[in-house]
Amino acid sequence: MSKQIIIIGGGISGLALLHNLKKKFVGRSDVQVHLLEQNTYAGGTIRTKYQNKCYFEYGPEGFLNNKESALKLAQDLGLEDELVGANPTAKKRYISIKNELHQVPMSPSELLSFKPLSLLDKVRIPLEMLIRKGKDPKETVYEFGVRRFGENITNYFLDPIVKGIYGGDAKKLNLRLAFPKIYELEQEYGSLLKGLILTMLKNSKGKKKGEASGSPMGKLLSFRQGMGQLCEALVKQYEDCIHLDEVVESVDRVGEGFSIVTQKMKYFADELFVCSPAHSASAFLKTLDPVLSELLGKIQYAPMAVVGLVYPKAALGHIPQGFGYLIPSSEKSEVQGVLFPGNVFPGRTADDLFMFRVMIGGSSYPDIMKRTKDELVETAEYELKKRFAINGRTVTEFLALWPNAIPQYDQEYAYLKDGIVYEVSKFPNFHLVANYLGGVSINDCTSNAQAAAEKSALA
Ligand SMILES: Cc1cc2nc3c(=O)[nH]c(=O)nc-3n(C[C@H](O)[C@H](O)[C@H](O)COP(=O)(O)OP(=O)(O)OC[C@H]3O[C@@H](n4cnc5c(N)ncnc54)[C@H](O)[C@@H]3O)c2cc1C
Repeated sequence: MSKQIIIIGGGISGLALLHNLKKKFVGRSDVQVHLLEQNTYAGGTIRTKYQNKCYFEYGPEGFLNNKESALKLAQDLGLEDELVGANPTAKKRYISIKNELHQVPMSPSELLSFKPLSLLDKVRIPLEMLIRKGKDPKETVYEFGVRRFGENITNYFLDPIVKGIYGGDAKKLNLRLAFPKIYELEQEYGSLLKGLILTMLKNSKGKKKGEASGSPMGKLLSFRQGMGQLCEALVKQYEDCIHLDEVVESVDRVGEGFSIVTQKMKYFADELFVCSPAHSASAFLKTLDPVLSELLGKIQYAPMAVVGLVYPKAALGHIPQGFGYLIPSSEKSEVQGVLFPGNVFPGRTADDLFMFRVMIGGSSYPDIMKRTKDELVETAEYELKKRFAINGRTVTEFLALWPNAIPQYDQEYAYLKDGIVYEVSKFPNFHLVANYLGGVSINDCTSNAQAAAEKSALA
């Protein structure tokens, strides 16, 4: 009899895992892999909507090529020619301070002329190399920033990065877990600046064209028709193994394997991979392991509403430049930031249109999901109209609601994670592979999926 592997959840973690397992067991008729997804479409957070000649991203705008795994997945799927790189002018990013947009400095001279920082703040930056490395693995991102660079640099640069990646609060996220690279650079080199410079020099040596970027920042990539194209290609390739509209309700142990009950039927798995978000896994794993279920249920997520507003270019007093802007917590704005997708990737809108992608909410605004669609659009419009001379109405609008957008690697999470890892270790053929373990970026999800496939107990 053939062995059954079941994957629950068809976001990028589950889909990439399916791809890696199919590769691993190619030609093995004794191993069958099936993926169960609750929605009538796969992709999870990754979803692109095409409407009125505009591609709107519900979730991620792109992925970085500073790691290889997502790029490798795209190459495996034959999507190399469909890849698009961010326009070099999109390197310009802005920070909103007291309602004024300031370009994020990209060079020492730009840093010197960055107005919101005092002379003292600027003098302090190179002195970071002289500060002793920290010893507290529980340090928050904010504490780390203030210790090494002072309050203003932390407020204007680190805090917005936390918002941009996690929709989170720098005062709550644990540096070691949320930004392991930064933590490791400080631990290894004694200084973040020293670590960044030396890593960049080391990585740029011997890189060939087309290889993953040597810069720790990397280059942002997407696909001609948006990020959804990646998941569509995966679904097309593995259509026979993907079961949509299958809501998993409970999981139980049966002998050495698992029974999985969905709203429609019952499956059996010799090996089970759970790739759904922590709160949903918590609900259906209650019977299998009540302790694990409780720990998963405690992981906090930031809510996020993403509003897309598209105007005729002719209605704008001036065309905004660059990637977009982020708004630091000190500005007390429920708008986290605004992206200009058409400036980043080609073909996102018709040439005569301009799209704003307004991110509203984050962990500091837990009630954002109580707003109506009209209220959210109004909030987005208010944000744009106070900055850009907009004379005219939108051509089209989009709204994506994510009540549980991104898991928060906060202080409590550190304890939860240890408990979760311990509980999972009780079952040799049971795995959790999702963005609440091992990183939230697409690259993190795809590389964790690759590692999980390698560990498959059915090898
Ligand atoms: C607004 C936003 C912008 C982002 N921007 C970026 C970016 O630019 N770059 C980047 O690298 N990352 C970005 N991220 C993060 C990244 O997109 C996510 O971390 C990643 O896509 C998560 O993938 P996942 O498969 O782990 O989870 P998910 O995408 O959440 O997928 C989980 C899947 O499980 C399914 N599921 C849940 N419960 C059940 C059940 N009971 N039965 C069956 N199926 C179930 C869900 O329907 C879903 O399809 C962004 C995230 C958000 C929200």
